[in-house]
Amino acid sequence: MSGGLVTAAYIVAAILFICSLAGLSKHETSKQGNIFGMAGMGIALFATVFGPDTGNIAWILLAMVIGGAIGIHLAKKVEMTEMPELVAILHSFVGLAAVLVGLNSYIDHGPGLEPVMENIHLTEIFLGIFIGAVTFTGSLVAFGKLRGKISSRPLMLPHRHKLNLLALVVSFLLLWTFVRTDSVGLQICALLIMMVIALAFGWHLVASIGGADMPVVVSMLNSYSGWAAAAAGFMLSNDLLIVTGALVGSSGAILSYIMCKAMNRSFISVIAGGFGTDSSSASGEGEESGEYREINAQDTAELLKSSSTVIITPGYGMAVAQAQYPVAEITEKLRARGINVRFGIHPVAGRLPGHMNVLLAEAKVPYDVVLEMDEINDDFANTDTVLVIGANDTVNPAAQEDPRSPIAGMPVLEVWKAQNVVVFKRSMNTGYAGVQNPLFFKENTQMLFGDAKASVEAILKAL
Ligand code: NDP
Repeated sequence: MSGGLVTAAYIVAAILFICSLAGLSKHETSKQGNIFGMAGMGIALFATVFGPDTGNIAWILLAMVIGGAIGIHLAKKVEMTEMPELVAILHSFVGLAAVLVGLNSYIDHGPGLEPVMENIHLTEIFLGIFIGAVTFTGSLVAFGKLRGKISSRPLMLPHRHKLNLLALVVSFLLLWTFVRTDSVGLQICALLIMMVIALAFGWHLVASIGGADMPVVVSMLNSYSGWAAAAAGFMLSNDLLIVTGALVGSSGAILSYIMCKAMNRSFISVIAGGFGTDSSSASGEGEESGEYREINAQDTAELLKSSSTVIITPGYGMAVAQAQYPVAEITEKLRARGINVRFGIHPVAGRLPGHMNVLLAEAKVPYDVVLEMDEINDDFANTDTVLVIGANDTVNPAAQEDPRSPIAGMPVLEVWKAQNVVVFKRSMNTGYAGVQNPLFFKENTQMLFGDAKASVEAILKAL
């Protein structure tokens, strides 16, 4: 392919990526958005592999076949509940790729560049490796935390903000040395020291963020991985990689901002690491308080039949139990009886932005009854029955009632305002944030213990 054709293909791919993002922003067009994204990536790969700057195509194709086979195998095997971990580990690959591209670019960059261009190129390399290394270890820690291999408690090193600042200042001095010196030995030294600092910095940044703030971390790392790709694009002088990286980087940053707003956290403080986690050992952790009442599936079915308005608030447990299909059937049955059934979705329900929306769409629940938290929160007071299916932190009144709670200030679905609340879960265990939930002990709440899918199926039968 000629250079001109490659440029044209890149422009088409970039436009398809933008259309993809636009499509993904709405339920109705999300499938289309995915198709645009895949088409754009197909064109981009083809144009890059068969472009004039590419040699050793056979090796590239071999690597693609091996990588593709591993990817297909893993994607087929992964459960919907493991998706966030998969995303986190994939972000770490982007970071690692940026580091490797940076090292290659440094080794490969021959003499002959003008001094100004040389400085720019060296700066690109340094920043690319820095962002890549931070993304790499940060994503590994996020993977560990989401998988439960690393404690979701925040790591509280003394003077942690000062340590972060020191890492940035020292890295900046190393950048200065790296660009200004003529000694190759000193350059390599600066690069290696910066790499170690960046790896530790990325690790510390995510390790110091506590359980309930993890959604922001995931979207933040998404953003970092975009900037790492953009940095690799600069190093390789690949315009499409720059555009794609910037799209991912900025959309990830916007998503992080939205998540922060949803959780009432300050964006800057979360990025700085460890904000809002100082009180994590404060009140409400784990211990049970008060008495709770139980209900069975038969009585829940009766309760539903006598209700005229029902709101279902799903959470991570619905994903674990794969209960979305019987939930969709119940919705259909109740609606057929003239009962007004709607869903209330918390922005951080589940383990991935949009997790619940994806599950409900998969089970073909109509979009118009699936409402965001802000759209439905005022309606709980006028609702007969709320079914809390596998949700916990996102319906925890402690966020409003207990200023010492680790989730204090986080907006939640105000389910307790309804006349009756039925909570579907297997035990009195806490949710992801590790905080006990006073909702379970309220007068109008009843617990329906058991696997959410089995419980919902039993209700379906009784209906
Ligand atoms: P939670 O994690 O707070 O609670 C889920 C509940 O589901 C648990 O209490 C568990 O109780 C129950 N459960 C688990 N398996 C089953 C099952 N098979 N059947 C029935 N119940 C089950 O969920 P939420 O969705 O309310 O909150 C999400 C949490 O995850 C928030 O803290 C959020 O910050 C965090 N998070 C969100 C991310 C996102 O992007 N959305 C990313 C990372 C973290 P039991 O064990 O007793 O059954």
